[in-house]
Amino acid sequence: MKPIILTGDRPTGPLHLGHYVGSLQNRVKLQADYQQFVIIADAQALTDYYDNPNLVRTNVEQVALDYLAVGLDPAQSTFFIQSQIPELYELTFYFMNLVTVARLERNPTIKDEIRQKNMKDSIPAGFFCYPVSQAADILAFKADLVPVGEDQNPMIEQTNEIAKRFNYLYKTECLKEVKSLIGSVGRLPGIDGKTKMSKSLGNAIYLGDSANDIKKKVNLMYTDPNHLKVEDPGTVEGHVVFSFLDIFDTNQTEVEELKAHYRRGGLGDGVLKKRLIDILENMIAPMRQRREQFQKDPAYVQEVLRNGTARAREVAAKTLSEVKSAMGIVY
Ligand code: ATP
Ligand code: MG
Repeated sequence: MKPIILTGDRPTGPLHLGHYVGSLQNRVKLQADYQQFVIIADAQALTDYYDNPNLVRTNVEQVALDYLAVGLDPAQSTFFIQSQIPELYELTFYFMNLVTVARLERNPTIKDEIRQKNMKDSIPAGFFCYPVSQAADILAFKADLVPVGEDQNPMIEQTNEIAKRFNYLYKTECLKEVKSLIGSVGRLPGIDGKTKMSKSLGNAIYLGDSANDIKKKVNLMYTDPNHLKVEDPGTVEGHVVFSFLDIFDTNQTEVEELKAHYRRGGLGDGVLKKRLIDILENMIAPMRQRREQFQKDPAYVQEVLRNGTARAREVAAKTLSEVKSAMGIVY
């Protein structure tokens, strides 16, 4: 039996470079050696997009297309739609009692999101509790590993606390603690260079972006505002184009030389932007092509999701049945 991976994304928009370096790369790398379940967390997306279910619905297919585009293979990875597995809601309901409100309030990712989304005094209860539902998603599959970006570490901690508490309270070993696997870049900044690249913050370069989109977005990147003339000495710290070259340029020796040149003066931002545009275009072009191919066959994408969801549901149902037995709520 192969070890198990559970991972996934919220269908709040198509996937971007942050998803790629944070999680997708690891998923592609590990899919042959693990039994991999990939959740499209539409119910979780509704906890803050409840007023726009259509946006969530239409993005389910977009996210599935991104999976196929980056090379996730449905024969090796099971893609499934969260809302179509009611067993996950049932597990969430039982797990909700194992977590205190105070504990949920301390979750640093939730705190950040509440601030970013400007929720303040109108935090939906469903949103506040989504870490519990995410724990149910992970524990239902008895995952060993969860490839995620850094912002997800508090969710994994919460998951393990629930697993431990459940097993202790109900004298069972049916739930399994899990490890996170952070990608090559745990938190890719957005093109604004400030916050994390995120679908919700309008600062993302998407895996399906056209060559022209990439060009426009790189050209918007913040550089050194005091570097007015090419011959002026410049500052590399906080220069978003350099931050991206640090991550995506495979020739780091040259990047160091460019930094030295920029600091001395005599190197324009245009040269750096052009270099980054070429690198990103070379990386994204093959994904974009595969995405376009799959986009022509929506029936295939639907079938992949239907089959994956059916397979995932069987696994979740088995865990739910063990959970109910352990609690003695079998009639
Ligand atoms: P939303 O703004 O709707 O929350 P998002 O862009 O944060 O969307 P998610 O679907 O919440 O994307 O995240 C899916 C996975 O991608 C998670 O594992 C998350 O940690 C990872 N991820 C998202 N953004 C980044 C990023 N900028 N850098 C690294 N990993 C990321
Ligand atoms: Mg997120």
